[in-house]
Amino acid sequence: MEPFIKPFHYNFIRGQVDLLTHQLTTVHDADVLEAVIYSAAQKIFDLLPVLTAEQEELLMHIRTAQAESDLIQYLEQLRPYVQPFPPISESQLRELFKKTKKLRIPPLQSIDFLKTTYVSWNDTGNKKKFLVYRLDGEWVGIESTYLPTIQKGICTICHQYSDVTLVSARTRQSADHYRAVGNYMCIDSDHCNEQVTDPSSLEKLLAKMK
Ligand SMILES: [Zn+2]
Repeated sequence: MEPFIKPFHYNFIRGQVDLLTHQLTTVHDADVLEAVIYSAAQKIFDLLPVLTAEQEELLMHIRTAQAESDLIQYLEQLRPYVQPFPPISESQLRELFKKTKKLRIPPLQSIDFLKTTYVSWNDTGNKKKFLVYRLDGEWVGIESTYLPTIQKGICTICHQYSDVTLVSARTRQSADHYRAVGNYMCIDSDHCNEQVTDPSSLEKLLAKMK
């Protein structure tokens, strides 16, 4: 079986597993427990509506979980089927930001592509944030600036309450008219990547900025 679970799917499933782990220890009514397990499984199948019989069987194992150890094992069973972020080379990254002076790119081997929905790094010296994503079959690279002030708030990308900062990027209003638009985003993009369960907000944002 080929990998078919995207990193953000895996985050979503892990979130359901965390909830179930909590419920396994707090809910003692067998019928209620069965209902919560059923509901978690349903949410996972809603997330991945098109599956082969083999993929469905793998994900279905959550229905038989009876203890925390079963849930840990369930996540372990899924791990080999996580699809990494699409391969990208350093020269492709440089090409995306060819207008940026003194571009600093992190070593690609330092990125865990199995946990990556979008590639992003900060140039802390120049207070710049770079975002890279494969949008509708093409690479999109966005350079933005961020405020040094970090605050608690909801991130536009992962929708979690996190350490965020105001990130501004130019958006195209018409053929030759641009406007800077700011969004609160996690300052730590690795952390954001571990929290994102749906890339649609990111995709909407990038479509406006590219
Ligand atoms: Zn975030």
